[in-house]
Amino acid sequence: MNWSNLSLSSKILKLVDDAGYKKPTPVQVQSIPLVVAGLDILVCSQTGSGKTASFVLPILERFKDKNGTYILALSPTREIALQTGAVFETFATPLGMKTVVCIGGVSISEEKKALSSSPHIIVATPGRLCDHLERGNVWLDFIQCIVFDEADRMLEMGFATQIEKIAEQLPKERQTLMYSATFAPKVEKLAKSLMNNPREVMIQNTKSTIPQIEQRLLWMDEGKKVSALFSLVRQELGTIIVFAKSKERVYQIWRHLQGRKIDSTYIHSDLTQEQRESTVTDFKNGKFRILIATDVMGRGIDVDNIAHVVNYDVPYEAEDYIHRIGRTARLGKTGIATTFAIPIKDEFAICAIEKILGVESPKSQQEKKEKEEPKKHDHQRKKSQNVRRDHPRR
Ligand code: AMP
Repeated sequence: MNWSNLSLSSKILKLVDDAGYKKPTPVQVQSIPLVVAGLDILVCSQTGSGKTASFVLPILERFKDKNGTYILALSPTREIALQTGAVFETFATPLGMKTVVCIGGVSISEEKKALSSSPHIIVATPGRLCDHLERGNVWLDFIQCIVFDEADRMLEMGFATQIEKIAEQLPKERQTLMYSATFAPKVEKLAKSLMNNPREVMIQNTKSTIPQIEQRLLWMDEGKKVSALFSLVRQELGTIIVFAKSKERVYQIWRHLQGRKIDSTYIHSDLTQEQRESTVTDFKNGKFRILIATDVMGRGIDVDNIAHVVNYDVPYEAEDYIHRIGRTARLGKTGIATTFAIPIKDEFAICAIEKILGVESPKSQQEKKEKEEPKKHDHQRKKSQNVRRDHPRR
């Protein structure tokens, strides 16, 4: 499939060419014609699949010759909002269209000023947009197209009330696009309440994304994690993101790496917006090879060529696992995801992850493997010095 088959005009095709996008990705192939036709779509797709351009391009196609604030995109985090805003700007600025991004952590009066300049596109986090609505800085009566990006994440982060408030102010006649990495029942419920007979686009259900990511599960006691990380960092020469369960934990890991003179950087919610942005830029530009992150912060990181994702702590929510490992193997590339899990303590969470991945539980795989290949397994155990290593899951 080529770009020219997707109902896009030559103006937009030229911008796509300038961006260097040679071929459309599967989510773009399926979503773009539906959006250009003005339909509502519910898309199951992950970050890294080219999903942002899959809504930005057809939306601009629809609204490029219109003047007014017709487009609103909601993102779960500041980082994702900034990235979405940047993609809109890349393609909208040459069309003479203006984008405003509204997020927490920056001056609200600056944003108010920007909103009053009648932008064509507003990209916002739900909390910040509600702040502006309450202050009367913005009205949503004119919105003709709304995007709920990473809807599952917005709900997990507790934005249901804000979404409801925003939806109340939107005109009934509109186009609604909803993107989510997973179709949890709560996402379907939200879609039902906000959308008009949406077409479903199932691009990457979680199973189909897995083959590109080699997933490894290492069972170990808490006390073994630091040395397991050191050896992983020695063996893996590419870029690494280490996910941890809290900001205290992020510091702890960073200090351990510093102690070994292993350069790394970190990102979590206590940093100012400016600090977060410069951390991500440093990581993107290769100043640091290792980034340690909490879930909320790490999720918004859009960096190509991440070789390895390390789940230093098993995530609380099984969906977070999918989002974390989705940092690697972007756009058809390959990558590795290694999870450090504590026997007994993490077994329940690992089973939940296995369930959404649709694979056998690691425990039953382990038992089966031991029955089939007892000798080989014993050898592997010795070799990994008490770190019990289950075979990679695919
Ligand atoms: P996303 O899934 O929106 O986070 O996009 C992931 C990355 O893919 C971004 O850096 C985009 O600029 C890039 N991208 C999106 N569509 C294409 C395409 N068709 N060809 C090459 N790169 C793309």
